[in-house]
Amino acid sequence: MDAAAASATPPPTDGATTATAAAAATPAQRPRRLRRALLWGLLVALLAVAQTLLVALTVRYEAWRALDAADAAAAEAVTSVRRDLLRLTHALQAVTWLDPDDPSWRPAAARLLREAPELRRIEWRDARVGLVGAVESPLGPSLFMRIPRPELAAEADLACRDARRVSAPAFSRSYFVPTLEGTGQEVIDLCVPALRDGREAGYVVATLALPALLEAAAQRSAELQRYELSFVEADGARLARAGARRGAGVHMAEQVLDVPGQTLRLRADSLAGRPSVIPNLTLALVLGLSIALFGVVFLLARDVRRRAQAEHALAEALGFRKAMEDSLSTGLRARDMDGAITYVNPAFCAMVGYSAEELRAVRPPATPPYWPPERAAEYAERQHSRLAGVVARQAQREGFETLFVRRSGERFPAMVYEAPLLDGEGRQTGWMGSVLDLTAQRRIEELSRQQQERLQGSARLATVGEMASLLSHELNQPLAAIASYSTGSLNLLDARRDHAEGSKGPAADADGVLSLLRQALTRIAEQAERAGRVIKSVHDFVRRREQQRETIAVDLLLEAVLPLVRLQARKCAVQVELDLPRPPARMPRVVCDRTLLEQVLLNLARNGIQAMETGTPVAERRLVIAARPTEDGARVRLEVGDGGPGIAPDVAARLFNPFFTTRVEGMGLGLSLCRTVVEQHGGALEFSAGAGGRGTTFRFTLPAARSGTQPEKAPAS
Ligand code: ADP
Repeated sequence: MDAAAASATPPPTDGATTATAAAAATPAQRPRRLRRALLWGLLVALLAVAQTLLVALTVRYEAWRALDAADAAAAEAVTSVRRDLLRLTHALQAVTWLDPDDPSWRPAAARLLREAPELRRIEWRDARVGLVGAVESPLGPSLFMRIPRPELAAEADLACRDARRVSAPAFSRSYFVPTLEGTGQEVIDLCVPALRDGREAGYVVATLALPALLEAAAQRSAELQRYELSFVEADGARLARAGARRGAGVHMAEQVLDVPGQTLRLRADSLAGRPSVIPNLTLALVLGLSIALFGVVFLLARDVRRRAQAEHALAEALGFRKAMEDSLSTGLRARDMDGAITYVNPAFCAMVGYSAEELRAVRPPATPPYWPPERAAEYAERQHSRLAGVVARQAQREGFETLFVRRSGERFPAMVYEAPLLDGEGRQTGWMGSVLDLTAQRRIEELSRQQQERLQGSARLATVGEMASLLSHELNQPLAAIASYSTGSLNLLDARRDHAEGSKGPAADADGVLSLLRQALTRIAEQAERAGRVIKSVHDFVRRREQQRETIAVDLLLEAVLPLVRLQARKCAVQVELDLPRPPARMPRVVCDRTLLEQVLLNLARNGIQAMETGTPVAERRLVIAARPTEDGARVRLEVGDGGPGIAPDVAARLFNPFFTTRVEGMGLGLSLCRTVVEQHGGALEFSAGAGGRGTTFRFTLPAARSGTQPEKAPAS
């Protein structure tokens, strides 16, 4: 298939043919297509799952990060608050060193209240937790304006009891102090025992505003600004808040703030809401890339589909071509530029009897096994000139006849047509040849030739048969003459004998009798010769069978048939005329198969005579046989014209059909044979109405002999 296969690639199919091709998928192709579709489906599903997972994981990760950040913020806030509380505890411990009677404790407490906005009030209580004195924060209105302090002192008392128990500062539970404006705030009391000589001499109780504590922590860190900080109860109820106005409530973290005697829960609530589907640039990039990947996969799938379609179409085209090559009875043979065989089809292998492998294995200068050994040199030379492009394009197209040998040794004639084999770029890569085995054709030709010959023989015999009556008539005359001369001679001899015996008959002169006898015998001889000539002409006509072309002058050709023509003409009272060039013009000479041409002329003449036999006045019964060279001198035209009734159109249409006849005793083969013979000589048999519209003239041409060819001697008649 090699080189030739490339040129058979079909053009890409369009949508319609694709659909047809898909519908016409063979059962063998279906599972493959299903598998391919499954693979693609799987790939797309995997991509979709990966994509979704990627988005989900990124969103989860973002949420985790936000939670972690909230946790860290809560921890930071707790640390910050704890540090503040520690600092305040230390500052309050400093206040405990002053006695309540000491006038300096109030200024010290006032200074502390100014420095720490989260401190709302500092009280001195005695050892029994009774109020000794209190200093309010100058930074805002007094806390206990709406509800007096004694009513809200329970938590402080409890804290101081704890402080006494552990001899260390203790915090109370937080509690809400309503203010005059209708609002209020959550506060917590810190009770610091004042020890004198190891014993509690009293307590310094500080009231701390929880919101202010948170606010201070939030102020300190930019990170914490993005959170709502709040103290919450175990059930989640918010006690105090600070920082951002309000958290989103999505990412929240709580930390426990352990202070002596109490546990506070601090919550950091991030401003950031639920992460969006595309939370950041990286994910956007990844998503973009994934979409691009989807696009690529789609394009790839389309490309693969088209490729599969092209492959399918190619496979079909190749299958079609292979089926076509395999079913051909013509041998195909491709050769490369070195003359080595590159491809042969099954018909060629069957023709020569060698397999494709065997033929392809022959490398020049080795000659193919189907070349006759004795002609190998000649064929090699021919192949060389063909491959070298010496042979003209026209000659290539016409092909050449050659002789090949089958593996069995049988030789056979073959017709080879060769054309250049071009590759996709138009470069010649070798030669493609189609080879026809002419054996069968030759056999048919031979059979047909034999049949034709047999037919001609039969026609000749039929003609002879028809002539039998004519012959008897023609031979009657010389035989009657011979008989009468013989009788006369016998009479003469009888008279002479009677005279010699002295009988009464008149005396006969011996010399006279001899002279009469000689005359009679001469006449007898003449008549016998005449009869012999008649018989010989028939004999010659029947016996001459060899078919060969010879050069003969037209008058000699006619001379051979004229005796037979005249025979019939005489019977029908037809006048035969010859119209030939008269001297000094040269008699035209033709190259023909003499026997067949005589038959043609005889047939045409006989048809003409028969046509005039009835219905034509005797005076008009003329048969004219004419011969003239054509204008170009290449051929000689012969005509046979009669004065008969002419040919009716319905008869004319079937005139040359074998076995068509209007005569009772006719065979209908005459004109059919005439036409075949004339065509064998490269001419055409035609007919037309004769001069003046009467009668019929048949005409045909024969190849003229080249000047210089000697005419044959006239046959002895
Ligand atoms: P056959 O002579 O045996 O009939 P032919 O083939 O010679 O066969 O002729 C076929 C027919 O053509 C004849 O029967 C006749 O009718 C017609 N025909 C042939 N030549 C002439 C002619 N010169 N004039 C009229 N009719 C003719």
